[in-house]
Amino acid sequence: MEFHVDIGPQYEGEVIRKEDMQVEFGGPKAKAKFELVTLKNPDEIEHEKVEVIGPDIKDMPEGSSYPIAILINIAGEALEKDMEPVIERRMHMYANYIEGVYHMNQRNDVWIRLSKASFKKGLNSLKEVGDILIFLYTSELSAIEKISITLVTDEKKVQELLAEALKVYEARDERLKGLREEDVDLFYGCVLCQSFAPTHCCVITPERIANCGAINWFDGKAAYKLDPEGPIFGVEKGELLDPGRGEYSGCNQCVAERSLGEYNRVYLHSAFEHPHTSCGCFQAILFYIPEVDAFGIVHRDFVGPTLLGEAFSKMAGVTSGGRQVEGSCGLALELIRSPKFFQADGGLRRVVWMPKAIKERYKDVIPADLYDKIASEEDVKTVDQLPAFLEKVGHPWIKGEVELPI
Ligand code: SF4
Repeated sequence: MEFHVDIGPQYEGEVIRKEDMQVEFGGPKAKAKFELVTLKNPDEIEHEKVEVIGPDIKDMPEGSSYPIAILINIAGEALEKDMEPVIERRMHMYANYIEGVYHMNQRNDVWIRLSKASFKKGLNSLKEVGDILIFLYTSELSAIEKISITLVTDEKKVQELLAEALKVYEARDERLKGLREEDVDLFYGCVLCQSFAPTHCCVITPERIANCGAINWFDGKAAYKLDPEGPIFGVEKGELLDPGRGEYSGCNQCVAERSLGEYNRVYLHSAFEHPHTSCGCFQAILFYIPEVDAFGIVHRDFVGPTLLGEAFSKMAGVTSGGRQVEGSCGLALELIRSPKFFQADGGLRRVVWMPKAIKERYKDVIPADLYDKIASEEDVKTVDQLPAFLEKVGHPWIKGEVELPI
């Protein structure tokens, strides 16, 4: 099959800046966006069909932003339901293989840019993008016997479909409830983001979902089974060296190998000394607030500055790149549900600020006696206002009621 642009791993890591962008899909300007892979019966799929619903690239003004839903249906005898998130996450790799296409994030945070240069070369239809993705999926993953893709840019339709996709993501995350690191011998690692963050290695445990939020422990297991030579691999956890911080000999060894010696220790449950590396795909940042020796959380969709005076994008620049940055850690929002959420540092009881949207979304996991004591942007706009608020509400960290496990 002939395409207007070149395809290959050499284009991974290619960043498309705003001034070089023809159009973008998803990202902060689009209210609704997502990508979803669904396993179907073979007779439900018209193999290699690509459908575009809504305006196409050639109809879009230069520099514009559009909502997007990418629905990929797959079938194959060797495929299992558990493999859906893994095949979905491959979108990050394959889309970035396309010359002039820049794919970031995942699930309902996805953000895709197309360059002016590739548009001029003739890549002016989402149909061709779909054809290229099908070519890559079927050439790289032989277990996929049938595949079809629907790309939706019609805002109303994307919004409707998003509600269903959110239920699917929730059900995937739900499977982990009750499973502990102590219950398994094998963790999983992922280096898919090394094209942008060369020393990054996600360590994925039953109590630590990957930074992007797209790969949990079950997904790691399914990915390793689907493609043992792929970017997701097994990590023997080895000896538990520090139960509080979550330091395992096997994880240290893995991180040393995969970061090419840049790091040789990792604490899975602490933001200090040897925190987990942060790529660039994380959904949120846990950040240290020295004035009160506590933490804030900000997510990618938060508009405007945090109480530190900087927006998510600026803070992400400091956090990302595959480095271990003390007191500034990229994370998946679902990590908030983990019983080991930064447990060495005091966990949720040391969090003093988070956007209202996140407080509401995770209301069921924030202890009832803590909920009103965590400030949001409505309570505290600058760091100067924070101590008075925490004193007034009697935040347990300020009152010295939080015991650290180490
Ligand atoms: S954030 Fe981690 S798990 Fe997700 S794609 Fe990147 S390296 Fe893999």
